[in-house]
Amino acid sequence: MIPFFPAPYPDELWYSVICRYHIRSGNPSVKYSIRELYGTNHINVPVELCGALSPLLEAIPTKALTTKDIIMQHTLYPYYTRFFSTNRKKSAYMLALNGNRHAGQHIGIYQSSSMDARRLRYCPECFDEDIAAYGEPYWHRLHQIPGIAVCPRHGCWLADTEVTLTGHRHNLLFPALPDCHLLPTPDTTPTAAQKTFAALMQDALTAPYDFHGGGGYRAIIKRALRNRGYASVTGGRIYAARIAEVVNAFYGGNFESVDSNEIYGVASNNRTVSVRKILQLACFLGLSLTDLLAPPPEDNTLVEIREMYQQGVSMYHIAQLYGTDRKTIARWVKP
Ligand SMILES: [Zn+2]
Repeated sequence: MIPFFPAPYPDELWYSVICRYHIRSGNPSVKYSIRELYGTNHINVPVELCGALSPLLEAIPTKALTTKDIIMQHTLYPYYTRFFSTNRKKSAYMLALNGNRHAGQHIGIYQSSSMDARRLRYCPECFDEDIAAYGEPYWHRLHQIPGIAVCPRHGCWLADTEVTLTGHRHNLLFPALPDCHLLPTPDTTPTAAQKTFAALMQDALTAPYDFHGGGGYRAIIKRALRNRGYASVTGGRIYAARIAEVVNAFYGGNFESVDSNEIYGVASNNRTVSVRKILQLACFLGLSLTDLLAPPPEDNTLVEIREMYQQGVSMYHIAQLYGTDRKTIARWVKP
């Protein structure tokens, strides 16, 4: 049993809590702190998740923390798994809880190539507020979501710090410190699209979480694409190249672009794609997280078309109404 353990701050990464423990303990090395908390030297505390939680919860004096609180409120688990099936959500949860070294891979954290150059980030305004409120800064979960560029609370750019995540994954801790150097941010103002996108990412991280299957977003995105003329009437064909072009124009420069393959990936049932790309497309379409998690709509298009045909509307007119050709309508109305 160790004598004290810092209480986590709002939205603080679990990794950051461990960093603060290390600083306060005055231990000569990180190894020493890790051994105290986990009972072994060979623990890697991943920035986005947590190490094995049960040995640690036994070692610390406070009994107020539960594993569920830690995973849901102090790791990026809810963000990364939001759109998984029930089974995958559960297996990812167990891997995270046990500190399994494949947890990150299973959850899709290391898929993105842009991870290579990632640094821990901070909002300059949150940084000052945290020091004023708590006497010290700490790493926020929200600021570390890959692709989030703006602080949803202050609407300003997030700043990179000098702490890079590459190559330092094992047994090293980098606490946020009051003299931590925040690198300069662009002297432009974030666009409305960038702010809305950041707010949607925040929702994906912090909205109430359940273990229901989250795959319904595909049908919802497909319907929105169809209503905007970016997919064929039945949603079978998606005009991905055109969509990629308008999505990239919507977000403007300085923003990781999407390509047509990723657009197909978001809408298709048998491909996995990063949460970031799902949200990028959803935000462009004006969809909220609640929209994406709603039960998928029933598709009545074919029924409507058949009824119209039976009521005597010509195939030509139906084709015009649904933005397709007569031949396609003929195929649909004939049994
Ligand atoms: Zn902020």
